[in-house]
Amino acid sequence: MNPSEIEKVLKGLPEYRLKQAKNAIYLNLISDWDSATDLPKETRERLKKDLPLTLNVKTVKSKDKKTIKARIRFNDIEVETVLMSYEERKTVCVSTQAGCAFGCLFCATGKMGLLRNLTASEIVAQVLHFGRKVDRVSNIVFMGMGEPFMNYDQSIRAAEIINEEMNIGARNISFSTVGIPEKIKKFANEKQFNLAISLHCANQRKR
Ligand code: SF4
Repeated sequence: MNPSEIEKVLKGLPEYRLKQAKNAIYLNLISDWDSATDLPKETRERLKKDLPLTLNVKTVKSKDKKTIKARIRFNDIEVETVLMSYEERKTVCVSTQAGCAFGCLFCATGKMGLLRNLTASEIVAQVLHFGRKVDRVSNIVFMGMGEPFMNYDQSIRAAEIINEEMNIGARNISFSTVGIPEKIKKFANEKQFNLAISLHCANQRKR
Protein backbone atom coordinates (compact mmCIF):
# COMPACT_ATOMS: atom_id res chain seq x y z
CA MET A 1 0.00 0.00 0.00
CA ASN A 2 3.09 2.23 -0.09
CA PRO A 3 4.39 3.43 -3.49
CA SER A 4 7.98 2.61 -2.49
CA GLU A 5 6.99 -1.05 -1.94
CA ILE A 6 5.33 -1.18 -5.37
CA GLU A 7 8.49 0.34 -6.92
CA LYS A 8 10.59 -2.41 -5.33
CA VAL A 9 8.37 -5.20 -6.64
CA LEU A 10 8.20 -3.73 -10.17
CA LYS A 11 11.89 -2.75 -10.36
CA GLY A 12 13.22 -3.13 -13.91
CA LEU A 13 9.82 -2.65 -15.59
CA PRO A 14 9.03 0.55 -17.56
CA GLU A 15 7.84 3.55 -15.54
CA TYR A 16 4.33 3.39 -17.03
CA ARG A 17 3.80 -0.05 -15.46
CA LEU A 18 4.42 1.46 -12.03
CA LYS A 19 1.89 4.19 -12.82
CA GLN A 20 -0.67 1.61 -13.95
CA ALA A 21 -0.19 -0.39 -10.73
CA LYS A 22 -0.51 2.74 -8.58
CA ASN A 23 -3.64 3.88 -10.43
CA ALA A 24 -5.14 0.43 -9.92
CA ILE A 25 -4.60 0.57 -6.14
CA TYR A 26 -5.24 4.23 -5.33
CA LEU A 27 -7.69 5.46 -7.99
CA ASN A 28 -9.50 2.40 -9.31
CA LEU A 29 -9.44 1.01 -5.75
CA ILE A 30 -9.15 -2.61 -6.78
CA SER A 31 -9.06 -5.32 -4.14
CA ASP A 32 -7.70 -8.05 -6.41
CA TRP A 33 -4.82 -7.74 -8.89
CA ASP A 34 -6.82 -9.77 -11.46
CA SER A 35 -8.97 -6.62 -11.88
CA ALA A 36 -5.94 -4.65 -13.13
CA THR A 37 -6.40 -5.90 -16.67
CA ASP A 38 -4.07 -3.31 -18.24
CA LEU A 39 -1.14 -5.06 -16.56
CA PRO A 40 0.33 -8.20 -18.16
CA LYS A 41 -0.64 -11.48 -16.51
CA GLU A 42 2.94 -12.16 -15.41
CA THR A 43 3.12 -8.77 -13.60
CA ARG A 44 -0.23 -9.37 -11.93
CA GLU A 45 0.98 -12.76 -10.69
CA ARG A 46 4.10 -11.13 -9.23
CA LEU A 47 2.01 -8.46 -7.52
CA LYS A 48 -0.44 -11.04 -6.18
CA LYS A 49 2.43 -12.90 -4.56
CA ASP A 50 4.46 -9.93 -3.25
CA LEU A 51 1.79 -7.25 -2.64
CA PRO A 52 -1.53 -8.89 -1.81
CA LEU A 53 -4.41 -6.40 -1.62
CA THR A 54 -6.79 -8.38 0.56
CA LEU A 55 -7.55 -6.91 3.98
CA ASN A 56 -8.76 -8.85 6.98
CA VAL A 57 -11.76 -6.75 8.09
CA LYS A 58 -14.71 -7.03 10.47
CA THR A 59 -17.41 -4.38 9.98
CA VAL A 60 -19.95 -2.88 12.43
CA LYS A 61 -22.69 -0.48 11.22
CA SER A 62 -24.30 2.14 13.47
CA LYS A 63 -28.08 2.15 13.89
CA ASP A 64 -28.57 5.19 11.64
CA LYS A 65 -26.15 3.71 9.04
CA LYS A 66 -24.27 7.02 8.88
CA THR A 67 -21.29 5.56 10.68
CA ILE A 68 -19.53 2.34 9.80
CA LYS A 69 -16.76 1.05 12.00
CA ALA A 70 -14.26 -1.51 10.72
CA ARG A 71 -11.70 -3.50 12.66
CA ILE A 72 -8.72 -4.33 10.46
CA ARG A 73 -6.19 -6.97 11.44
CA PHE A 74 -2.55 -6.42 10.45
CA ASN A 75 -0.58 -9.54 11.42
CA ASP A 76 -0.02 -9.00 15.17
CA ILE A 77 -2.55 -6.26 15.95
CA GLU A 78 -6.09 -5.05 15.21
CA VAL A 79 -7.05 -1.38 14.77
CA GLU A 80 -10.29 0.51 14.27
CA THR A 81 -11.18 2.82 11.43
CA VAL A 82 -14.49 4.62 10.89
CA LEU A 83 -16.41 5.94 7.88
CA MET A 84 -18.77 8.85 8.59
CA SER A 85 -21.26 9.76 5.86
CA TYR A 86 -23.04 13.13 5.91
CA GLU A 87 -24.71 14.06 2.62
CA GLU A 88 -21.90 14.47 0.05
CA ARG A 89 -19.13 14.24 2.62
CA LYS A 90 -17.54 10.84 3.26
CA THR A 91 -14.93 11.09 5.99
CA VAL A 92 -12.58 8.31 7.07
CA CYS A 93 -11.17 8.50 10.59
CA VAL A 94 -7.88 6.60 10.67
CA SER A 95 -5.81 5.14 13.49
CA THR A 96 -2.07 5.81 13.61
CA GLN A 97 -1.11 3.54 16.51
CA ALA A 98 -2.38 0.30 18.02
CA GLY A 99 -3.23 1.51 21.51
CA CYS A 100 -1.83 4.78 22.85
CA ALA A 101 0.67 5.78 25.51
CA PHE A 102 -1.22 8.88 26.71
CA GLY A 103 -3.88 7.14 28.77
CA CYS A 104 -6.53 9.90 28.69
CA LEU A 105 -9.06 8.80 31.28
CA PHE A 106 -12.18 8.92 29.09
CA CYS A 107 -10.60 6.97 26.22
CA ALA A 108 -10.81 3.20 25.71
CA THR A 109 -7.68 3.20 23.53
CA GLY A 110 -5.71 4.88 26.29
CA LYS A 111 -6.52 1.97 28.63
CA MET A 112 -4.72 -0.44 26.26
CA GLY A 113 -1.34 1.28 26.54
CA LEU A 114 0.79 1.50 23.40
CA LEU A 115 1.14 -1.77 21.49
CA ARG A 116 2.98 -0.36 18.47
CA ASN A 117 3.07 2.35 15.82
CA LEU A 118 1.36 1.68 12.50
CA THR A 119 3.29 1.94 9.23
CA ALA A 120 2.23 4.42 6.54
CA SER A 121 0.96 1.41 4.54
CA GLU A 122 -1.27 0.30 7.40
CA ILE A 123 -2.70 3.81 7.75
CA VAL A 124 -3.33 4.13 4.00
CA ALA A 125 -4.92 0.65 3.96
CA GLN A 126 -7.69 1.96 6.25
CA VAL A 127 -8.61 4.60 3.67
CA LEU A 128 -8.41 2.10 0.81
CA HIS A 129 -10.77 -0.22 2.65
CA PHE A 130 -13.56 2.37 2.72
CA GLY A 131 -12.57 3.79 -0.67
CA ARG A 132 -13.44 0.39 -2.12
CA LYS A 133 -16.93 0.62 -0.57
CA VAL A 134 -18.08 4.18 -1.40
CA ASP A 135 -18.04 6.32 -4.56
CA ARG A 136 -15.44 8.69 -3.23
CA VAL A 137 -13.82 9.35 0.12
CA SER A 138 -13.75 13.16 0.45
CA ASN A 139 -12.08 13.80 3.83
CA ILE A 140 -9.59 12.15 6.16
CA VAL A 141 -9.19 12.78 9.87
CA PHE A 142 -6.24 11.41 11.84
CA MET A 143 -8.34 11.03 14.99
CA GLY A 144 -8.63 7.29 15.48
CA MET A 145 -6.60 5.13 17.85
CA GLY A 146 -3.31 6.69 18.88
CA GLU A 147 -1.63 10.10 18.85
CA PRO A 148 -0.49 10.82 15.25
CA PHE A 149 2.35 13.11 16.40
CA MET A 150 3.88 10.23 18.40
CA ASN A 151 4.13 8.35 15.10
CA TYR A 152 4.97 11.50 13.18
CA ASP A 153 6.94 10.32 10.13
CA GLN A 154 4.64 7.42 9.23
CA SER A 155 1.51 9.54 9.77
CA ILE A 156 2.81 12.36 7.56
CA ARG A 157 3.95 9.89 4.90
CA ALA A 158 0.48 8.30 4.91
CA ALA A 159 -1.14 11.74 4.49
CA GLU A 160 1.19 12.49 1.56
CA ILE A 161 0.28 9.20 -0.15
CA ILE A 162 -3.43 9.89 0.38
CA ASN A 163 -3.00 13.41 -1.02
CA GLU A 164 -0.68 12.64 -3.95
CA GLU A 165 -1.90 9.20 -5.04
CA MET A 166 -5.58 9.25 -4.07
CA ASN A 167 -6.04 12.92 -5.04
CA ILE A 168 -7.62 13.94 -1.74
CA GLY A 169 -6.81 17.62 -1.14
CA ALA A 170 -4.40 18.51 1.70
CA ARG A 171 -7.10 20.88 2.99
CA ASN A 172 -9.42 17.89 3.37
CA ILE A 173 -6.93 16.03 5.56
CA SER A 174 -6.87 16.89 9.29
CA PHE A 175 -4.61 15.83 12.13
CA SER A 176 -5.80 15.85 15.72
CA THR A 177 -3.27 16.05 18.55
CA VAL A 178 -3.38 16.31 22.31
CA GLY A 179 -0.76 19.08 21.86
CA ILE A 180 2.94 18.27 21.43
CA PRO A 181 4.60 21.67 20.90
CA GLU A 182 7.75 20.61 18.98
CA LYS A 183 5.70 18.47 16.58
CA ILE A 184 3.17 21.26 16.08
CA LYS A 185 6.05 23.54 15.00
CA LYS A 186 7.39 20.86 12.65
CA PHE A 187 3.91 20.31 11.25
CA ALA A 188 3.80 23.97 10.15
CA ASN A 189 6.40 23.12 7.49
CA GLU A 190 4.47 20.18 5.99
CA LYS A 191 1.85 20.40 3.25
CA GLN A 192 -1.22 22.46 4.13
CA PHE A 193 -2.93 19.76 6.17
CA ASN A 194 -5.33 20.97 8.89
CA LEU A 195 -4.53 20.78 12.58
CA ALA A 196 -6.98 20.26 15.45
CA ILE A 197 -5.81 20.48 19.04
CA SER A 198 -7.84 18.49 21.51
CA LEU A 199 -7.95 20.26 24.87
CA HIS A 200 -8.98 17.70 27.45
CA CYS A 201 -8.90 19.70 30.64
CA ALA A 202 -12.10 21.17 32.09
CA ASN A 203 -10.07 23.84 33.91
CA GLN A 204 -9.71 26.91 31.66
CA ARG A 205 -6.38 28.03 33.19
CA LYS A 206 -4.79 24.63 32.55
CA ARG A 207 -6.27 24.53 29.02
S1 SF4 B 1 -4.26 10.75 22.99
FE1 SF4 B 1 -6.17 10.22 21.90
S2 SF4 B 1 -6.04 8.00 21.55
FE2 SF4 B 1 -4.47 8.52 23.09
S3 SF4 B 1 -5.47 8.11 25.06
FE3 SF4 B 1 -5.76 10.30 24.59
S4 SF4 B 1 -7.74 10.43 23.51
FE4 SF4 B 1 -7.10 8.27 23.50
